[in-house]
Amino acid sequence: MSEVLMEARNLVKDFPAGRHRAVHAVSDVSLELQEGKTLGLVGESGCGKSTLGRMLMHLIPPDSGEILIRGTPVTWLSDADFMKYRRMLQMVFQDPYASLNPRMSVRSLIAEPLETYRLHESRQETTRHVLELMSTVGLPEEFLHRYPHQFSGGQRQRIAIARALAPDPDLIICDEPVSALDVSVQNQILNLLKSLQQSRGLAFLFISHDLSVVRFISDRTAVMYLGKICETGPTEDVFREPLHPYTRFLTASVPMPDPHRRQERPKMAAGEMPSPISPPAGCRFHPRCPYAMPECSRTEPKLRRCGERQVACHLEK
Ligand code: SF4
Repeated sequence: MSEVLMEARNLVKDFPAGRHRAVHAVSDVSLELQEGKTLGLVGESGCGKSTLGRMLMHLIPPDSGEILIRGTPVTWLSDADFMKYRRMLQMVFQDPYASLNPRMSVRSLIAEPLETYRLHESRQETTRHVLELMSTVGLPEEFLHRYPHQFSGGQRQRIAIARALAPDPDLIICDEPVSALDVSVQNQILNLLKSLQQSRGLAFLFISHDLSVVRFISDRTAVMYLGKICETGPTEDVFREPLHPYTRFLTASVPMPDPHRRQERPKMAAGEMPSPISPPAGCRFHPRCPYAMPECSRTEPKLRRCGERQVACHLEK
């Protein structure tokens, strides 16, 4: 069993949305990230998964709740006190073109975190380290002095990964890192992340709306709906036998190659996710849930343990 690297306890984040109104982006979310493992975080766009990732990165503060790194509370540390943890945590974003400064060469982009943390005494040592990182992510030496606009999307994402690896982190939060890439390039980047995990013992929080990608890369999966976690568990269990009706809805929308299994799919209620400004009372999924009972609109189901899994649904008691 792996050790817990990072833990979020009861995180809440609202954003103001005009007079007396707020977007309830993240509501009472708790989860654990294990050392050297990948936790996939899935859910429809607008469910709060990126806000959760940014809170874990200390980029935005929660309204309440707590974040612990290896058991030490870090939520309310100042930016200066958080610096030693910052090096342990890095982030890779969806759009490498937007996240890389177009005026900086590959050398400067990858060297920047090495210089920020003063990891080398000389420019030559820094350049040697940059070249090692480029080789690790599959970029040839001759790219050293080129600029982001000279690369394809996949190559730019490799630069972003090399930059994230530079401070030798323990955890990389990947926010939709392959969703802007072609399928063949997606596979290359996912395989790169997997091999980096094996060689460096890295942990990933892998945020995505794409279930097949999450299934491929994650050891455990957490499903988020309208600001809350509705199910977590070992990835294969969650995908083979989803317990929460929303997880069934999500997994049923992934194309299946087997036509017989296609017929077994549950019929699911259609409809859009309600606004996070006024989430439904009780179970937030109840307006879309084909199994909703009167209790579901009155009482919010708590996340309960079912073996290695957790699920928030009145059907699972
Ligand atoms: Fe459906 Fe009720 Fe379960 Fe919510 S608590 S998912 S509405 S059955």
